[in-house]
Amino acid sequence: MRSPSIAKVPAVSVCNVVIPVQIPRPYDWFLIVPGTATIVGAGPNGLAAAIVLANAGFTVEVREAAAVAGGAARSAELTLPGFRHDLGSAVHPMAVMSPFFSSLPLEQSGLRWIWPSAELAHPLDDGTAVILERDIRATACQLGPDAAAYRRLYGPLLANWDGLRHDILKSIIGWPRHPIAMARFGLRGLRSARGLAGSYFKGVRARALFAGLAAHSFLPLESPISAAFGLVLGMAGHAVGWPIPQGGAQSIADALIVCLRQAGGTVITDAS
Ligand SMILES: Cc1cc2nc3c(=O)[nH]c(=O)nc-3n(C[C@H](O)[C@H](O)[C@H](O)COP(=O)(O)OP(=O)(O)OC[C@H]3O[C@@H](n4cnc5c(N)ncnc54)[C@H](O)[C@@H]3O)c2cc1C
Repeated sequence: MRSPSIAKVPAVSVCNVVIPVQIPRPYDWFLIVPGTATIVGAGPNGLAAAIVLANAGFTVEVREAAAVAGGAARSAELTLPGFRHDLGSAVHPMAVMSPFFSSLPLEQSGLRWIWPSAELAHPLDDGTAVILERDIRATACQLGPDAAAYRRLYGPLLANWDGLRHDILKSIIGWPRHPIAMARFGLRGLRSARGLAGSYFKGVRARALFAGLAAHSFLPLESPISAAFGLVLGMAGHAVGWPIPQGGAQSIADALIVCLRQAGGTVITDAS
């Protein structure tokens, strides 16, 4: 029977984000299956959980129903030979801001990021577009009357980016390590995207940019907390960028599998 001294197990996941839950001694509920962990599903979160458990000393097997591991982070030749398409995720600011992903040797495991010269473009009805640039000033100066408001919204959050990214992506259990920065973020993020954009911005360009970011929540823009997605994805655009993996999202899954195999774990595809 193998019992690791400490394990942080990804238990809750949102958008590639693995939120660790610390399991204290004596792991009573682990011991019902001594030293063995079976993970169902080889998406990014299943693979991340498997890596944590394998590194903690468990014998880990990931059982994946599909023929190819990766879940919604898979890529395949859907049209012409040699043209790989992402089946789900494509652009990965959350992966590069994730403290857990940062702890893995993903680049040594084959992952190469492509950094675009501009993070995203939001087209407008008048034929122009708002470009979210890494430089907050270069972004703000496209927003006409809302340039100062844009910097007032994102600037103070970005000043606390490193603490915020840890608190935003950690388990919701427990206190934040940066309570003042989190309170500033939370007060704005708990609002609806429409409410926050309406109170900060007068013009269509800033409102459209914020709406496009917040729409990644898959929530109605009138819904509480939809603003949080606009804040996090906008901050990520300025702080770390919106990179894409060379070869498609499959490259993230493949690199995670390399990390898992190095830790001694296995992935079985076509598993029932
Ligand atoms: C269309 C689309 C676009 C997206 N775009 C982005 C993006 O651009 N950027 C971004 O960061 N995120 C994006 N996401 C979100 C991201 O892909 C997911 O957050 C991520 O894939 C979730 O990982 P997961 O491991 O929790 O689940 P999944 O990736 O869904 O993996 C679950 C795996 O479990 C397997 N499975 C399920 N049930 C069983 C079973 N009973 N037995 C065996 N295997 C089972 C499935 O086959 C699958 O492989 C997108 C998602 C979709 C669908």
